Amino acid sequence: MIAQIVPVLFAFGANLGDRGETIRAAQRQLAQAPGIRELRASPLRETIALTVHGPDPDAPRYLNGVAIAETAVPPHELLDLMQRIEAAHGRVRDERWGDRTLDIDLILYGGRVISDERLAVPHPRAHERDFVLAPWLDLDPGAVLMGHGRVSDLLARMGDTTRPFVEPDADDDAAGSRAAG
Ligand code: ATP
Ligand code: MG
Ligand code: MG
Repeated sequence: MIAQIVPVLFAFGANLGDRGETIRAAQRQLAQAPGIRELRASPLRETIALTVHGPDPDAPRYLNGVAIAETAVPPHELLDLMQRIEAAHGRVRDERWGDRTLDIDLILYGGRVISDERLAVPHPRAHERDFVLAPWLDLDPGAVLMGHGRVSDLLARMGDTTRPFVEPDADDDAAGSRAAG
């Protein structure tokens, strides 16, 4: 069977280590993976940590961003790849929503609805997260979240607590724009 090529949306978050470098490196790794093409990454935004107890202004702040791409990689294989990239950047899972070097979530996989023990797509909490919606809107002002409507409307309703983040080296911001090494 020939795999279908579908648009996908990834969300990235990091609040430990060199947050921006890690996210940009992860995006380059995704962009260069077999079966992934046309990756376009949003600007990064700085956000207050969301913990199981709610927003925590005392926790290290996050950088968040999103990226869209096209892929023929099946969804669970894509999750495997995302988790390998997280692990390569030192991701440790202990407490839920705890501090992390890198989180990569799959927000959308084409128009597919997936709900099993490993993968829920569309991501069930994306619609209530300004740190996903705000960078997505930066990338695509007309964005629509399956099942929830226009991203601009969602964000206007909830209020946007994120703020733009100026990356140290603006020349290096386009994921995949440079050859590796
Ligand atoms: P949240 O999903 O609320 O953002 P989190 O990203 O901190 O929380 P993780 O510890 O990164 O959660 O992942 C926990 C599990 O979630 C993973 O092992 C993975 O199997 C599962 N998962 C389910 N749906 C998705 C998805 N759409 N993207 C990434 N992981 C998912
Ligand atoms: Mg997450
Ligand atoms: Mg995750």
